[in-house]
Amino acid sequence: MENVLKPMDAEQLRENAHKMVDFIADYYKNIESFPVLSQVQPGYLRKLLPDSAPNHPEQFEDVLNDIQAKILPGVTHWQSPDYFAYFPSNSSTAGFLGEMLSAGLNIVGFSWVTSPAATELEVIVLDWLAKLLKLPEDFLSLGQGGGVIQGTASEAVLVVLLAARDKFLRRYGKNSLAKLVAYASNQAHASLQKACQIAGIHAENCRFLETDSSTNYALSPDILQEAISKDIAAGLIPFFLSATVGTTSSTAVDPLFELGKIAKGNNIWFHIDAAYAGSACICPEYRHYIDGVETADSFNMNAHKWFLTNFDCSVLWVKDRSALIQSLSTNPEYLRNKASQGNMVVDYKDWQIPLGRRFRSLKLWMVLRLYGLENLQCYIRSHIEYAKHFEELVSLDQRFEIVAPRTFSLVCFRLISPHNDDDFCNKLNHDLLDAVNSTGKIFLSHTVRSL
Ligand code: PLP
Repeated sequence: MENVLKPMDAEQLRENAHKMVDFIADYYKNIESFPVLSQVQPGYLRKLLPDSAPNHPEQFEDVLNDIQAKILPGVTHWQSPDYFAYFPSNSSTAGFLGEMLSAGLNIVGFSWVTSPAATELEVIVLDWLAKLLKLPEDFLSLGQGGGVIQGTASEAVLVVLLAARDKFLRRYGKNSLAKLVAYASNQAHASLQKACQIAGIHAENCRFLETDSSTNYALSPDILQEAISKDIAAGLIPFFLSATVGTTSSTAVDPLFELGKIAKGNNIWFHIDAAYAGSACICPEYRHYIDGVETADSFNMNAHKWFLTNFDCSVLWVKDRSALIQSLSTNPEYLRNKASQGNMVVDYKDWQIPLGRRFRSLKLWMVLRLYGLENLQCYIRSHIEYAKHFEELVSLDQRFEIVAPRTFSLVCFRLISPHNDDDFCNKLNHDLLDAVNSTGKIFLSHTVRSL
């Protein structure tokens, strides 16, 4: 049994990890040789793998061979240059190395004491990033606020929704849950709807307000104000507003300043979801898209989308960390320790849903250090330039039209129907999408634009 892997034996790790790094490096070298969208059929893998786990150890090489032959055909290659679907989830060498180190150290940093560096690095790195985004000082850790890395934007909106909900329940009494109303545009990501479902906000109290081309699919402050006034008149309690900077369907930007004013005037928690487009705001010429962020209670962007940080790394800042902590903290005996009891430290377990948490700040820190602001800005700018160029090419082709203004690196376009018939036009575009994606040469995704 010489070749049996021992748990984290340093020399075995060195030998096999080198092989794995070679495997991954070769994957990146050849990534364009794979169909970008996996072409397998549902259930393909069950036919290729045994029914049960092996009784005896297998060889590492055999596993690698299976990955090559059986797993990679079922992989959609998110990092391929031919991948244009959804929003990007860009990785990088720096992000990868940070992720590798995090896996290597494998700490579970829920409280400061469980790994002081994990908490302290996260606090520092999120202050750094807040400064690059020129967020107001209220979001930095030195005052009442601070940043925390969540797994996803969905968790970020859920935790702030819970904080807002509980603030209102403390004010109006626990029986007022059924009266709480949340607002967003109908372009808001479905994660808000899911957060409401989890938080017990009734579906009939979720206002996903109409948008149209007259505001480029941004939420109109007048429509919001009208909805809030109507709800107050009906005895309901507006408590939460989520604005989006860079909506999922068309990268619309809600007018933060005006919406923030309404939120403040009505004492509503104001959250900004900049999951995709937030990264662009490190460039001075795009920073104006988050003007008005000073009126917000919380701000979120996914470093794992457009900031070269390997999934998962969703960055959330709040102005009042005590609101999160009041909602999410628990203090069982087995987690008590001097530093926490003395109120001397941040315990991130109280800023998130799970207890356990990974050392995710390492990869963000490595991205910031190994690229530096200027390179990160160039990277964002280059993507936007590519998109502009593509938009120009589409505009020159009479068969296509641009259907929503391009703001960042997303271009929304469609085939024009020769018959001026919407149903036919939709079918034509669906057929085109299926045809394109079934080639495996390029992967695009779709949406439906409201009129
Ligand atoms: N918000 C916006 C604007 C998004 O585009 C997305 C995903 O694309 C999300 C939230 C959800 O992101 P996550 O997968 O991190 O929950």
